Amino acid sequence: MIDSFGREISYLRLSVTELCNLRCRYCMPEDGVCKKRHEDMLTQEEMLAAVRAAASLGIRKLRVTGGEPLIKPNIVPLCGEAAKIEGIGEVCLTTNGLLLPKLAKPLRKAGVSRLNISLDTLDADKYAFITRGGKLEDAMSGIRAALDAGFEKIKLNTVLIGGFNDGEIAALADLTRRLPVDLRFIELMPMYDSGDFGPESFISYAVVTDRLPDLEPVEADGGVAKLFRLPGAKGNIGLISPVSAHFCAACNRIRITADGKVKPCLHSSEEYSLKGLDEEGMRETLRRAILAKPRWHGELSFAERSRAGRNMNQIGG
Ligand code: SAM
Repeated sequence: MIDSFGREISYLRLSVTELCNLRCRYCMPEDGVCKKRHEDMLTQEEMLAAVRAAASLGIRKLRVTGGEPLIKPNIVPLCGEAAKIEGIGEVCLTTNGLLLPKLAKPLRKAGVSRLNISLDTLDADKYAFITRGGKLEDAMSGIRAALDAGFEKIKLNTVLIGGFNDGEIAALADLTRRLPVDLRFIELMPMYDSGDFGPESFISYAVVTDRLPDLEPVEADGGVAKLFRLPGAKGNIGLISPVSAHFCAACNRIRITADGKVKPCLHSSEEYSLKGLDEEGMRETLRRAILAKPRWHGELSFAERSRAGRNMNQIGG
């Protein structure tokens, strides 16, 4: 479906839970989330109805996210059913990777075609710090399990954080030489409750090209990342700049939160509820949401924080 500004909306990010087995400092509060009532969250059937409704409006790519999607007990059948929906060409999933040693093979068998795995540092102490208690070795085991399960085009997502991982840009980029994976550096977004981080934590994507003079440009793949490659590398390096160079003109996505709200724009508080609607009602609501998608998300900086009204774990990234 085409929105009011001529953009073809073909990508749905579906958050299946707000809960997570980590507590990344830029993503969610230390004490987790205020657990919502079970009956306020979308059921598995409602999630699948929403994906069917979205597919009937032209959504072709589905990304399952969270919170941490792999802590959801029925995640494998949910992805399997979503992959069978007519029109859905690919089901991708974003995860911190911790549960992939158990789930990578079943997910692949169920029809998940691609994985993005979050990895902000290669230092075990820093990993424990940024995730508030996670173990780097568990994330690395998850990456290995995804490769062993036969996933191709795995993307590692690194949030660039000044004073935290800017000294590791070369080491992280080197993963694309050692492993058949892509790596994406993503600018830190000033969400409404990222209390630990102020302007000094923000570093622009341009720092990566400064630090890695060998990077060679690669033709864009239709996504929002500017693509590069290190000589001899097995995978690309993508730079994603939601803050310093927004890509709203090319935004082709909508989001559905685990509590059933359609968000036409990540950084807007405008939401449309799907909870309790039948599939036709969902279709109409999705259509309205797509037509209400704003031209751009407005100024975004550490002075002008996101107006999303939610933390990232309650949206899905
Ligand atoms: N738990 C999964 C994971 O760790 O990938 C999926 C959910 S997480 C919200 C999705 C993505 O959002 C992750 O790659 C994470 O790094 C990113 N993210 C969360 N908060 C962010 C922020 N303030 N700025 C930039 N990216 C952020």
